[in-house]
Amino acid sequence: MKQANYFEGDVVALVRELYAAEDDALSGARERADAAGLPMIEIAPEDGALLQLLVRLVAPRVVVEVGTLFGYSAIWMARALTPGAELFTAEADEHHATVARANVEAAGLADRVTIVTGRAPESLTGLPDPVDMVFVDADKTGYPSYLEWARRRLRPGGLFLADNAFQKGAVADPHGDAAVAVRGMLDMLATDAAWSAAMLPTLEGMAIAIRTDAG
Ligand code: SAH
Ligand code: MG
Repeated sequence: MKQANYFEGDVVALVRELYAAEDDALSGARERADAAGLPMIEIAPEDGALLQLLVRLVAPRVVVEVGTLFGYSAIWMARALTPGAELFTAEADEHHATVARANVEAAGLADRVTIVTGRAPESLTGLPDPVDMVFVDADKTGYPSYLEWARRRLRPGGLFLADNAFQKGAVADPHGDAAVAVRGMLDMLATDAAWSAAMLPTLEGMAIAIRTDAG
């Protein structure tokens, strides 16, 4: 099945220019991370703008991110937090966490962003309960366990998001641990009454779901 997809090339560039222009804190965060040898696997700018809008919409008190890297997505989201609201972002790699801390500090967001070092989901046990919004963007084999954590900890009406949901197209016929795990998460979102789910067809695919009051 071949369908037209207009979100590419000049259209992506236009969307970035209109809605996702980076300021010095965002571009500087990437430059510092590149210089420190971190992988450049952050979300796309338009994903950042989308997450930021969703934070404004939900007006959460507590947001949890799984997978900080150098803090790029965290900066986009944290900027939309209302006074007193907090973002907790989990990062397993100490070096990534150190770079992210410097970037969050440089962005002037250290008062509302806490980087939680250690492997999720185990590292998430001490966080506030319940949470209002969860964004998952870490190791793909962990996605089912992050969904399970979010199911327990999101309040009814809370928002769940997971990046790289298309696995470069592999989710339709998954082979390999990562694609099989992400597909497992997508199937769970579809079949479990605890979720009301859809898909944001970004470049990489962003699963989006609301925690219902079932289960
Ligand atoms: N959300 C970031 C990109 C995250 S990249 C952004 O868009 O800016 C994925 C990150 O998840 C990496 O830094 C990796 O070290 C981290 N990671 C992988 N497995 C993890 C785990 N079990 N717990 C916490 N972080 C993990
Ligand atoms: Mg990602």
